[in-house]
Amino acid sequence: MAEIRQLPQSLVNQIAAGEVVERPASVIKELVENALDAGADRIEVQVVAGGVKQLSVRDNGHGMGPEQLPLAISPHATSKIRDLDDLEAVASFGFRGEALASIQSISRLRLVSRTADADHGWELAPGVFDEPRPTPAKAGTLVDVRDLFFNVPARRKFLRTERTEFGHVDQLMRKLALANPDVAFRLIHNDRPVLDLSAVTLETLDQRIAAVLGQGFLEQAREIDASASGFSLQGLVASPQYARASTDQQLFFVNGRVVRDRLIAHAIRRAYSDVLHHGRHPAYVLSLHLDPAAVDVNVHPTKAEVRFRDARGVHDFLFQSVHRALATPGGASSSSAVE
Ligand code: ADP
Ligand code: MG
Repeated sequence: MAEIRQLPQSLVNQIAAGEVVERPASVIKELVENALDAGADRIEVQVVAGGVKQLSVRDNGHGMGPEQLPLAISPHATSKIRDLDDLEAVASFGFRGEALASIQSISRLRLVSRTADADHGWELAPGVFDEPRPTPAKAGTLVDVRDLFFNVPARRKFLRTERTEFGHVDQLMRKLALANPDVAFRLIHNDRPVLDLSAVTLETLDQRIAAVLGQGFLEQAREIDASASGFSLQGLVASPQYARASTDQQLFFVNGRVVRDRLIAHAIRRAYSDVLHHGRHPAYVLSLHLDPAAVDVNVHPTKAEVRFRDARGVHDFLFQSVHRALATPGGASSSSAVE
């Protein structure tokens, strides 16, 4: 019989990384969510060679002091929850305390951070994580990730071309930008600006949507602004004429989180079912808000899936709201909220 042994922490982290980090875009998702959790309203993502060689995320959030930095990259260390009650009503994107620990175990990670009241920042250089050193820095945090999977050849093999990897990054950034309209986003690839979106006021939300989904979507879109029984839904659904051959323009956010969910897709699809040709897919960007305690986000390591406590209620609310918008020329606005 083989002996049972405790795995070294570095290997434990690498195994955990396997769950959340598939490619550069997954790293960027974790880092941008951290920036959002830190209250940033300006986030800049720089990517070199599709992100495989290097990617970095800079934010103007609340930053971290020197004593926090080694904790930030330790596994199961988080500032976002304390106990089970917190977990059940979690309103932040993060709570597992695993992303930075995982990412540093499969890349060369550098962390620079400065709180607003400090007169300089602190840096953790790759590999020397117990000794922060002082460095000049702007308030906020910079996470720089190089050579993703350099020590995990099996994972590196699954990375695609620079173009494909950057495509994933680009798609992700567009979703994050629509889910968080009050944040300014910049995306730079190989020194070339790809997205440059200033924070949205009500008047410019349309511009951001047009920049992300195209003017064609906007012209065909009907507005939804509905609320009922603790749920509220805002956004745009494209008219059936705009239906697509793929599901590439289906953006759904739950409390600001980019989510893929069968129940949601089903409810919306059903609302379109009378008016959509077989094999065509609806296009929409919709943002659902509900009590954080009414949705379990601790279902999947990347939190791409959620579980609603009242699944039936959410399904019916979505179906009715979308159905009504499609039946109303020009869309259903707040004046016709779902009862
Ligand atoms: P989680 O987000 O689940 O807490 P992470 O490993 O992503 O776990 O981050 C660990 C901790 O590091 C966070 O709880 C937070 O306190 C801190 N942190 C990470 N990124 C940032 C950031 N951009 N700004 C401020 N603090 C951060
Ligand atoms: Mg996190």
